[in-house]
Amino acid sequence: MRKGMLLVVSGPSGAGKGTLVDKLLKDDPSFGFSVSVTTRAPRDYEIPDVHYHFLSEEEYDKLLEEDAFLEHATVHGKRYGTLKSEVNERIARGQNVLLDIDVQGALDVMAKVPECVSVFILPPSLKVLRERLTGRGTETQEAIDRRMGNAVGEIKLWPRYRYAVVNDDLEAAYQQLKAVITAEKNNTLRFTPVVPEE
Ligand code: ADP
Ligand code: 5GP
Repeated sequence: MRKGMLLVVSGPSGAGKGTLVDKLLKDDPSFGFSVSVTTRAPRDYEIPDVHYHFLSEEEYDKLLEEDAFLEHATVHGKRYGTLKSEVNERIARGQNVLLDIDVQGALDVMAKVPECVSVFILPPSLKVLRERLTGRGTETQEAIDRRMGNAVGEIKLWPRYRYAVVNDDLEAAYQQLKAVITAEKNNTLRFTPVVPEE
């Protein structure tokens, strides 16, 4: 009765994508997370093959040669990619799949999979974005400056997405994301109701 939903969440680094995505994955078992490949180093709290598949440049090149990616991009100087194997079979089985990817990758997925549900997560201000990146404590000052430098250009792309959510109050933003998902689950593109005789 239901086709799988491909949910694409993006927005500038520090906007709160990971926080919202984690809440959703705990809350809604119909979603599976697409674990991306990256060449960046793991953070202390990150678990290999749960948060990312952390690969060497050579391993990443091999996957590129094998045409293993649905999309891939260089983001803040490191390479990231979504594996077709994380997405295609699950969608075909009617499962919902969640991608947390940057704007370049998201635009690519929107072109390849027009029925995907794209959501742009915005920070309430650039000041708050910097505070969140600093407060997270995972990036060097140089990396924070680089991510802030990219944020302005990324934010300009919000009109290309189907939905935008401002993550000011976390709970309010989460409820808005849930509302989008509830509506899109009932989109007749992917929901085929059957009316029995009795
Ligand atoms: P992203 O995945 O977009 O880079 P994160 O989810 O890691 O962003 O959030 C960046 C930081 O901001 C984290 O420390 C997170 O706990 C915090 N954060 C996220 N959403 C909010 C919010 N609505 N209010 C205050 N802090 C938030
Ligand atoms: P981080 O290094 O903070 O985990 O992620 C940096 C940026 O890379 C974020 O915008 C995140 O959404 C994006 N990203 C993570 N995985 C992928 C991916 O597979 N493809 C693309 N294009 N971007 C990704």
